[in-house]
Amino acid sequence: MPLDDLFEEAGRQLTICNSCRYCAGYCPVWPALELRTALEQRDITHLANLCHDCGDCLSACMYAPPHQFAVDPPAVFAAVREDTYRRYVWPHRAPGPRGTGLAFAAACVVLALLARLFTGRWFTAGPTPGDPYEILPHVPLLIAVGVPSLWAAGVLGRAVLRYWHDIHGPFTDLVRPRVWLTTFTQAVQLRHMTGADAGCERPGRRGFHLVLLYGFGLCVLSTTAAAFAQNVLGAHPPYPWLSVPVISGGIGGVAVLVGGTGLWVRGGGSGFLWALLVLAATGMLTLLLRDTVVFGPLFLLHVAAVVVAFGTAPYSKFVHGIFRMLSIHHDNLER
Ligand code: SF4
Ligand code: SF4
Repeated sequence: MPLDDLFEEAGRQLTICNSCRYCAGYCPVWPALELRTALEQRDITHLANLCHDCGDCLSACMYAPPHQFAVDPPAVFAAVREDTYRRYVWPHRAPGPRGTGLAFAAACVVLALLARLFTGRWFTAGPTPGDPYEILPHVPLLIAVGVPSLWAAGVLGRAVLRYWHDIHGPFTDLVRPRVWLTTFTQAVQLRHMTGADAGCERPGRRGFHLVLLYGFGLCVLSTTAAAFAQNVLGAHPPYPWLSVPVISGGIGGVAVLVGGTGLWVRGGGSGFLWALLVLAATGMLTLLLRDTVVFGPLFLLHVAAVVVAFGTAPYSKFVHGIFRMLSIHHDNLER
C-alpha cells in the first residue's frame, strides 16, 4: 500500500477508535490516542511503535472485518512499524536472507585469511587450549568486531535522532534522567506487555521476551567483564569456569537459546531471532568445547556470526526495541 494511503487508512481506523474507546484499558496506545483530537503522521508513527501486537483489541472489536468499518489496529500498526524501520534507518538497503548468508560466508573467509596472516594457521587452536588470541590475535579480532559495531552504532544513532525529532521534537527531552528512569524500569520489565486494567498479555510471550532480554544483557555483561579483566586487571583468556565472564556468558547463552526458541515456537520468528540463536549456539559450543580440536572452527563461526549480526542489526528486528523505548519515553513525557 502506498505510504499516503497507509497513513490515511490508519487515521480512518483510529478516528473510529477515538470515538469508540472500548479498548481504553487494554494497553498504553489507547490513553495516548485519547490525548489527540487530530492525527498527524508523527502521531500515528508513535502510536504504532507503542503497540506490541498482542491482538486483543482486534479480538474485542465489534467493528473488525467483516464489519464495513474494517477496523484492524494490529495490522495497520504493524504496517506503519515496517515503514518506520525503513524510513528512519539510512542507508535503507537491507540484506535479504541470501545476502545475509553471503555476508556470513564472506566473514568466515576474511577471518580465516586474517588468522592465516597473523598466526600462520587456518583458524586452528594454538598450544594453549581455549586461548582465542592464539587463533586470531587481539588487535585484528578487535578490528573485525569493532568495524561492524561502529557502523551499527552510527546508523542506529542517526535513526534515534531522526525518529525522536519527528515524534517529539526537542532533543533536550532526551536528557531527562527521572523520566528515563521510569521508561527504563518499564522497558526492562516489559510492563507495556502486561496491558493495563483489562490486560492484553498473551500467555508465555512476555515471559520468553524477558528471558531473551535478560539473557542478551548477561552476554553483554560477559563481554564487558572480559574486557575489564583483560585491559584493567591484565588477566588474559581463557578465563576459569568460575569467573564472571564465563558464568554470565554461560547463563546468558542458555537464556537466549531458551527465550529465542520459545518465541520462535510461538510464531515470533524473524531474521534477528535466528541471528541471536546462531550467536548463542556457537558461543555456547565454543565455551563448552574450548579444550578440544574443534575450538578453532567454532570460534571462527562465532566471530563471523557476531560480525554479521552487528553489521545487519540496523536492518533487523533489533530496531523495534529502540523505537518502542523512544515511544514509551515520549508517552511518559506526555503524561
Ligand atoms: S479496536 Fe474496535 S473496540 Fe477497540 S477502540 Fe477501536 S473500534 Fe473500539
Ligand atoms: S498492544 Fe494489543 S491492544 Fe494495544 S493496540 Fe496493539 S494489538 Fe491492540
